[in-house]
Amino acid sequence: RRAAALAGSSGEGATRDGHKVALLANIGTADDARKAAGYDLEGSGLFRTEFLFLERDQAPTLAEQTATYTEVLKAFGDRRVVVRTLDAGADKPLAFADLGPEDNPALGRRGLRLSMVREDLLDTQLQALAAAYEATGRTADLRVMAPMVATLDEAKWFAEKVRPLGLPKVGIMVEIPSAAIMADKLLSVIDFVSIGTNDLSQYTLAADRMQGALAPLLSPWQPALLAMVKSTCLGGRATGKPVGVCGEAGGDPLLALVLVGLGVSSLSMAPSKVATVRAALRLHDYSTCQQMAAFAVDAPTAGDAKVAVETLVAPALRDLL
Ligand code: PEP
Ligand code: MG
Repeated sequence: RRAAALAGSSGEGATRDGHKVALLANIGTADDARKAAGYDLEGSGLFRTEFLFLERDQAPTLAEQTATYTEVLKAFGDRRVVVRTLDAGADKPLAFADLGPEDNPALGRRGLRLSMVREDLLDTQLQALAAAYEATGRTADLRVMAPMVATLDEAKWFAEKVRPLGLPKVGIMVEIPSAAIMADKLLSVIDFVSIGTNDLSQYTLAADRMQGALAPLLSPWQPALLAMVKSTCLGGRATGKPVGVCGEAGGDPLLALVLVGLGVSSLSMAPSKVATVRAALRLHDYSTCQQMAAFAVDAPTAGDAKVAVETLVAPALRDLL
């Protein structure tokens, strides 16, 4: 029955009535890129570049980075590739960029905050991305985004770094509540945002994402987390700019419907999850997704949100869950 429900699930992501949703892969290496490119999906919505930097004594050279980014862009041809600049620091320390111990690493100098202190690392990475883009004859659908952005000044700072290099699009991740609340302002200086639900849950519920015992607080069904997604999507609507999701929530077929209903236009996930999410979308109209989103955001608890959404699910989806 599962196979039957998945049959015919190919091609562009869209709801039953044709509302388009780009379905994308999360990747971390050139090897991941080649594997993901073999799947029926529209590109990569999150290339986590930190794998190139971790567990090394020295930062990867310009030549080394250029080679890897070129491989990744070429693997996807004209399909989109959203590259996230280095998301290190704190719990992912780098031997060559140690800013000293921090009492609260998750709230410390990680992500873009590290790049702002170690501008040299970001400059080399952006130069490598520009060179990789040139190596594709400027045909790649390359989009560059920064992790852990909290303020408009940070988004502006990053955009001003990227734009002079002639890279096609610049965006940021929404992983901090301040960015979700101010998404309309942030989007006025960049081209897109992508919501990282893993960190956005952590910072919205003040619950360490590494602590298994806190899983109920970190559930993406938490109405407060969904309200952050909604706020971000309202910012997207106000500015006419796209909002994606690249955290784990996007790979859950039921949550994918809710996220689309909130206004998310792309979902990035483990490539193996794309077929199920695509099938789930095909079984529901956009208006049903919107209704699900309204139920979930208005629910008093995470449990109630899920139960309310399940009342609207097409029976055929149950074969996929
Ligand atoms: C996220 O925080 O949701 C995300 C996609 O980034 P990472 O999991 O790499 O922190
Ligand atoms: Mg994150």
